[in-house]
Amino acid sequence: MERSTIVRVHEGLHARPATRFVKLAKGFESDVELVKDGKAVSAKSSVKLMLLAVKENQEVTVRANGADAIEALEALIGYLENPRAGLDDEAEAQSPANDAGQEAAPAPGSVPAASGGANRLRGVAASEGFAIGPAFAHFPPDIAGQGRMLQAEEIEGEIDRFRAAVGAVQARMDHALAQDSLSAGDRGIVAALRDIAADDSLTDEAEGLIKGGNDAVSAVITAASTIAAEFSAVDDHYLNARADDVHAVGRQICLVLLGQDDVSLENIPEGAILIADDIGAWDLARAPLKRIGGVVCGHGGATSHIAIIARSHGIPAVLGLGGQVNALRTARDVALDGNAGHVIIDPDEATRADFAGRVEAAAKERAGLTIFKTVTPKLADGRIIEVAANIGSLEEIEAALEAGAMGIGLFRTELLFMRHMHLPSEDMQAETYAALAKAFAPYPVIVRTLDIGGDKPIAGIEFPDEENPFLGWRGIRMCLDRPDIFKRQLRALLRAAVHGNIKVMLPMVSDIGEVRQTRVLVEECAAELKAEGMAHAAFDLGVMIETPAAVLIAPALAKEVAFFSIGTNDLTQYIMAADRLNPTVAKLNDVTNPAVMSAIEMTARAGVAAGIMVGMCGEAAGRPDLIATFVEMGLTELSMSPASIQRAKKAIMAMAADG
Ligand code: PEP
Ligand code: MG
Repeated sequence: MERSTIVRVHEGLHARPATRFVKLAKGFESDVELVKDGKAVSAKSSVKLMLLAVKENQEVTVRANGADAIEALEALIGYLENPRAGLDDEAEAQSPANDAGQEAAPAPGSVPAASGGANRLRGVAASEGFAIGPAFAHFPPDIAGQGRMLQAEEIEGEIDRFRAAVGAVQARMDHALAQDSLSAGDRGIVAALRDIAADDSLTDEAEGLIKGGNDAVSAVITAASTIAAEFSAVDDHYLNARADDVHAVGRQICLVLLGQDDVSLENIPEGAILIADDIGAWDLARAPLKRIGGVVCGHGGATSHIAIIARSHGIPAVLGLGGQVNALRTARDVALDGNAGHVIIDPDEATRADFAGRVEAAAKERAGLTIFKTVTPKLADGRIIEVAANIGSLEEIEAALEAGAMGIGLFRTELLFMRHMHLPSEDMQAETYAALAKAFAPYPVIVRTLDIGGDKPIAGIEFPDEENPFLGWRGIRMCLDRPDIFKRQLRALLRAAVHGNIKVMLPMVSDIGEVRQTRVLVEECAAELKAEGMAHAAFDLGVMIETPAAVLIAPALAKEVAFFSIGTNDLTQYIMAADRLNPTVAKLNDVTNPAVMSAIEMTARAGVAAGIMVGMCGEAAGRPDLIATFVEMGLTELSMSPASIQRAKKAIMAMAADG
């Protein structure tokens, strides 16, 4: 018995919907299969279902055979046609992806600089400050099997051992899911992993290999690689990223088999220096950041997302060490200078004393700066300079308020999209933006529309393979090509604007048409909301100035928008043609280069002449050595990591005092 239908599951049968479908199918005795393009798979395996790569609006057939076939068809077709019926919307909206590996593309592992001594390394100064503490090496070890074939009489026992290990991993994940303390983000990640651990695909494959004489660990490694390779081969970025999930589950099963524990960031001791070859931005974001004294990484650059997270939490970081980072694997203690990019392995007594002194002085400086928290920086001529915060999640609101931020100058919306397995719903986005607006009212909250590029896949958006993703389909370019995604964000922003001072800015603008097209969409969204009787309010629309083209057309752009915000991170890389993530060209990636400074000045002049606000949200905005220059150029808003706010206010007040 079979029936065909068109799939209405948003973004197709990805992990969570696949799991729901499987759960429904398992509720029936009948054998159930899902057929797409002539290929049939069991509807009781979520891995097999995911690998079928069923997308929204595709035709599929559900085939059932057994006593309750009619009921099974009814229920499963019903789900495919109306997946939200009977579901808890909130749970759906909150189900995140495993975002491992979705941070900014890592820099090539080149060694950028010579060391200054046997125990002294140099990398990219990515987050300022000094730290000294015990090393916490986060190099999850490679796992290997026994490398011998089993005797026939050993096989049954090995299968039992394997099944017990799978059970233990599932139980551990169930236990984690039962914890109230687990954040929504973490919960989704664990749930996605648990689905894979509970799926027959991996276990059947591994058991087959054990029956063939492989030891359980080797079997799991091979089985995970086989299934991961299938995920990697599917033409869908989101499913490609599931390959990491399969490896992660395989790893957990192997660790149980070996009686070992994985290295977890959860256990990092107070004040420790986290050493890793690479850390996913999302892994770092959910680590116990308050306990981390410093970060040292083989990958990454000054404006990579790890650097941005470190800076926003005031954690000193040296990144881009390349292969040199291996020298730190066995370090006991590490001193790091995030201003100069130095890392010292097992420092001697004199160095310890020197760093302890610097850490103390920095703490004193921080304490001395707290008086600027409530200061509203004003120049001698009465102009107020708004010192705002750059943040990327609601969790950072507290740090920004605590620092004395006068609003948000850049809310990066990427994390909101990267954290979830589906594109975030309009309601969920509206709630997020409204929460921001309320937290900072009456100060403005500038939300940047989605700025994602081909180097960072997002569930639900298919990116083409690009030779140069930074010169490709990113930011406003992608959004205008995907009005379904863009309009959902614009509608959410119009709704949130009711709750405070929301402003919206567009990233990667290089042509005036991009602003005009956006305006048309905003008007369309406002008309739709009105027709639906949904409360909404207009917002100021601005652009980021981060391409040379935007600088060159700034006078014309200024007539079309309410404000400029200079994105010096990208502007520097595009003006200097020097990849912001590549430590080998870090020297060229310098905002103080006259070419970049003159681009900033041209932008400021155009904005001031048109009478619009000119701000800056690139990392340079928080540099006390450059603030006076920017303010003299005419900038009236500077937005930065919360950790830099008080020092920036002090620098502006010093200008006022100097007259
Ligand atoms: C910039 O490019 O300066 C900027 C603020 O945007 P992002 O770092 O998110 O690209
Ligand atoms: Mg940018």
